[in-house]
Amino acid sequence: MSHYQKPPELYDGLRLHQNENTGGCSPRVLEALARLRADEIGFYPPYASATDAVAKYLDVAPDRVTLLNGLDEGIMALAVAYLRADVGGPVLEAIVPEPAFEIFRFDTAVAGGKLVPVMPHADFSFALDEVLAVITPNTRVAFLTNPNNPTGVGMPLDAIRTIARRVPPGAVVFVDEAYAEFAGVSFMPDLDAFPNVIVGRTFSKAFGLAGLRIGCLVGAPATVDAIRRAVPVYSVNIAAVTAIQAALQDLDHLDGYLRQVAESKALLYAACDRLGIKYWKSLANFVLVCAGDRTDAIVKGAFDKRIYLRDRSTEPGCAGCLRMATGMVEHTRRAIAVMEEVLCAAP
Ligand code: PMP
Repeated sequence: MSHYQKPPELYDGLRLHQNENTGGCSPRVLEALARLRADEIGFYPPYASATDAVAKYLDVAPDRVTLLNGLDEGIMALAVAYLRADVGGPVLEAIVPEPAFEIFRFDTAVAGGKLVPVMPHADFSFALDEVLAVITPNTRVAFLTNPNNPTGVGMPLDAIRTIARRVPPGAVVFVDEAYAEFAGVSFMPDLDAFPNVIVGRTFSKAFGLAGLRIGCLVGAPATVDAIRRAVPVYSVNIAAVTAIQAALQDLDHLDGYLRQVAESKALLYAACDRLGIKYWKSLANFVLVCAGDRTDAIVKGAFDKRIYLRDRSTEPGCAGCLRMATGMVEHTRRAIAVMEEVLCAAP
């Protein structure tokens, strides 16, 4: 597969297949959007106060933060900035521990880089030695995700430090923290000591802003500078700029969602234990469930009831696995009921 196969546009049911926040954004976001004036929409958007608000939330200096039209935009810009080869120069390499967010693979291809996949351990514990073994003088990016998608499994921060010390000069370690709020762990406090590490965050998941598209990259200005040049100047629109400031003023809404996620995961684990289905304990807002040869029936059975789950069985190490968002408890209960129904009906 040479390009990203976007999941079909399924908006007529329960979307548990893209790790979105099915509870939606804070009501403060809607109020702020409703207050937007015609002239504000008429102008190119200002970024300083949204950047300050994000920096304050992440507890970093504002000059370290680059706002993005979704973290996806930052990943593409990073690939373009770091993986394009000089004319006559060697092909530059991107290390991707699998299974991984598939965008890393596609963006590496767009930038003309060479993908260096690292196969997973059976328990998805981080394959540090295997990653270190594939570093070469042509390594330019190591794409790490903590906690990982699609497994939900975390990696030790010390593994990130070790990789950052071992990659060649001019290479960057990208730590995708799209799900960091759920894990409560971040590499952010280490960034001063590791100028070759860039952290990516999104407000799509924990803050429920996926439809507005807003994320950021955080890192040393000298490291992020080349990436900034690859981000279109006004790619973040005024609605996203407005929304993120309102969302960050309502951290109670975030806390409420985090509680729902914790309860949802406990419910799903208990259901899997009852049903004799394997799963991996997740630090994110989704769980990878391995129902083996029953996975297809569960995904199809749920689809027929307009509950959308993501079949991940073709991803490395994920044979027989599906991924389910575990957000709002009422939604998780509905998905579990369908799972039970399918499995109890199976011959
Ligand atoms: N990184 C990871 C690991 C993700 O799972 C996602 C969302 N699917 C993204 C980045 C992209 O986030 P955004 O919506 O901000 O583009």
